Amino acid sequence: MKNPLLTAAYSPEDFRKRGHLLIDVLADHLKEKLSGGAEKTIDWKLPEAEYALWTEFLINGNESSLFSNILERTTHVHNPKCIGHQITPTAPITALTGMIGSLLNNGMAVYEMGMAPSAIERVVTEMLCKKLGYTDTSRGFLTSGGTLANLTALLSARKAKASENIWKEGSGKPLGIMVSEEAHYCIDRAARIMGFGEKGIIKIPVKADFSIDTSELEARFNTASTNGIEIFAIIGSAPCTATGSYDDLQALGKFAKKHNLWFHVDGAHGGAAIFSKKYRHTVSGISLADSVVIDGHKMMMLPAITTALLFKNGNQSYATFSQKADYLLGQSEDEDWYNLAKRTFECTKTMMSIHWYTILKIYGEGIFDEYVSQLYDMGKTFGAIIQQNPHFELATKPQCNIVCFRYVDMAMSLDTLNSLNANIRQKLLEAGEFYIVQTQIKGIHYLRTTIMNPFTTGDHLQLLLEKIQQKAKEIIKNMMTV
Ligand SMILES: *Cc1c(COP(=O)(O)O)cnc(C)c1O
Repeated sequence: MKNPLLTAAYSPEDFRKRGHLLIDVLADHLKEKLSGGAEKTIDWKLPEAEYALWTEFLINGNESSLFSNILERTTHVHNPKCIGHQITPTAPITALTGMIGSLLNNGMAVYEMGMAPSAIERVVTEMLCKKLGYTDTSRGFLTSGGTLANLTALLSARKAKASENIWKEGSGKPLGIMVSEEAHYCIDRAARIMGFGEKGIIKIPVKADFSIDTSELEARFNTASTNGIEIFAIIGSAPCTATGSYDDLQALGKFAKKHNLWFHVDGAHGGAAIFSKKYRHTVSGISLADSVVIDGHKMMMLPAITTALLFKNGNQSYATFSQKADYLLGQSEDEDWYNLAKRTFECTKTMMSIHWYTILKIYGEGIFDEYVSQLYDMGKTFGAIIQQNPHFELATKPQCNIVCFRYVDMAMSLDTLNSLNANIRQKLLEAGEFYIVQTQIKGIHYLRTTIMNPFTTGDHLQLLLEKIQQKAKEIIKNMMTV
């Protein structure tokens, strides 16, 4: 070939050389981070500075330092002091399956463009269906993220339950869904995309532990119905994102059945508890759901983005984007499971199924039990540590590995405490040793942690509280002197 750039880009020997070097760099990275020896989890820089650096690097940067530079300038999820967002420190083997997927690049929309990963996707989703307590006719697929999966589930729900065929005829009667006010914002967004507007999102208040208040369901349903809204679905969070509180899925399932609603469970974070012997009870009732979302990149050690959407009645997953009526599909003898794009929002998607399958093949599903149980245990441990310390207050007792709390001082007003906690979190970010996040719930500013790393110990969490107290003291001292 006479194109020099293409020749270089496709050189197998160049790939081999760079690959070996990169694996060594990443393995060293893992070794250093997992041991907790690293000084920082994040070397925080202002966005504008980072933008300037990378603009400059493209012109004058040394190519040989590209990968190491990216490594240095990201947040290190394998560091046990990374206790922020709900994103998993990937099982390293899935970095290798990620590489396979990137190189082979089978698009997965049709069977011929991804034979193995399409068949593997069926194996993986059937395994998940079985764990949910579903039946032989249950089916699922993998898709790009919990947000898209929730939207897809609501589209399926509307197709199955709404009195009019919106997919064919366009919008008619005002439709609505019921969901906890603490549900992930993507449910709200999905409902707005589907054209329901604010009035079609019936937000149910939560109890003191931030789980949905099921005693409100009947009254809210009746009010909405009286106002002419046809409610077709109810969504349970397992758990909700901010505080990690699980909704009562048994009660929601019962309510859905009574009113002939679609019952969807957003288990993006904690659906993986189906694997935990110790914590399976948190999702009791999940088998009542018509559809369930589970994010592999949250509680199952897989890289972003790897999400499963599972349907109790597999046929309903074929109806979502189909022009045909449900009953025709239901009678289809030859279910076209292997042409995945008929059921997914995406056309092309990544070969995400191979991450899941490889973990199962190499370690077995027991690894998911170990992972979820270890992290939920650590969430409880952290809750107990916080409760023992008079300088801190929990938003609610942790039900999983999400822990929301704040620094408190009896003498301070709510506003002062809110800005103090926001300040603490900013100072922690700038210091970079620990990485935690924050959230506002009902006007109260909380520090928010998610323990995602199985190497995070009680000692790390104790140290985090010490650092927070230190920062609080410094901030209060500065407040006094101005
Ligand atoms: C994270 C999360 C989502 C969004 O999932 P993505 O994979 O980030 O799109 C939805 N619902 C809940 C409960 C979540 O925790």
